[in-house]
Amino acid sequence: MDMIYLDSNATTRPAPEVVRAMADMLEHDWANPSSAHRLGQRARAKLDEAREQVASLVHCAPGELFFTGCGTEAINTAIRGLLLARTPRRRIVTSTVEHSATRELCQQLARDGYEIVEIGVDEQGELDLVHFQDIVDDQCALVSLMWANNETGVVWPVETLSAHCRSKKVPLHMDATQAVGKIPVDVTSLGIDAASFAGHKFHGPKGVGALFTRKGIRLKPWLIGGPQERGRRGGTENTAGIVGMGAAAKVAQATLQQMVKVETMRDDFEERLLRNVPDTQIHAGRATRLPNTSNVGFAALSAEAILLSLSEKGICASAGAACSSGSLEASHVLQAMRVDHRHAHGAIRFSLSRYTTQDELEHTLSTLPAIIGKLRQVMPV
Ligand code: PLP
Repeated sequence: MDMIYLDSNATTRPAPEVVRAMADMLEHDWANPSSAHRLGQRARAKLDEAREQVASLVHCAPGELFFTGCGTEAINTAIRGLLLARTPRRRIVTSTVEHSATRELCQQLARDGYEIVEIGVDEQGELDLVHFQDIVDDQCALVSLMWANNETGVVWPVETLSAHCRSKKVPLHMDATQAVGKIPVDVTSLGIDAASFAGHKFHGPKGVGALFTRKGIRLKPWLIGGPQERGRRGGTENTAGIVGMGAAAKVAQATLQQMVKVETMRDDFEERLLRNVPDTQIHAGRATRLPNTSNVGFAALSAEAILLSLSEKGICASAGAACSSGSLEASHVLQAMRVDHRHAHGAIRFSLSRYTTQDELEHTLSTLPAIIGKLRQVMPV
């Protein structure tokens, strides 16, 4: 059997339609979309089509969307751009479980004199809505929260968050990087002000992202130096990447229903794992979650040892966030959820996609009990 890929929250396999669209772009429509000649116009038309495809997936007008170099850049642009465009207000509300793109930027902003308030979560990873409603008042400059958590898959009640922000006239940015392509994302009907996306999280290419900003919302550009993207993001566009992201959006929209099947497979996987491997728990298992994500705590083991053994058997998974693997510190998300140390240190994230097969999960289920049993004998933590 080929490698079994259960790490789709780190990145997804590009869809064949994406690969074809990108190859075609690189081969035939490689001109600069800002050029006035016919070749440039052809590249521009492809870019416009990709913008429409992504806008259609997230339900906004194409003009409300511009492309960035990745999800991290979209998040940085949203937070800094909304702050700079506004306000003498200095309070930013975020959460304890954000991706490092938001967390580290907010730490930097704290050093620059902003007041950062991090809302906590409960044992299931659900946001403390009482604290949220209390702290988000008309003194806030900005709220930035994730739509769905990359480690646990927990999905927050965006409608409630948005309604409160609107009532206080505080702009709301959602990091929708993990949500899009897995659950319906409708930025317009939910009334949010800004949202960030990354192509590689929904079977598009890496190195391209997008930022939605609601019509009428003021945003200062962050990357300055050209008229591209109507002055909202300078620099010659990554045309092949953008076209790939557009193709991925088109396929994601057409196949979103398949995530129901993915969820059934994930639930069955978890149920049988709990039955077959003692002293194991599912993190955030009772929360509203993305259909593809399973965060499993194997007690008394280190996640690194489990990952290595899985990798030797051809199974790719991850320890919490991909960027925190390699460190022995338990993930900040599981710590915020007050997961006990025994399970937090042995936490593995399995993240499925529409390409995951039942055979692959059967193989993983039959491989895991022996790995866990052996590691608990030879290297318990
Ligand atoms: N936000 C979340 C929730 C993520 O999971 C990621 C990627 O892991 C990002 C932001 C950053 O996206 P990118 O890697 O495209 O910069």
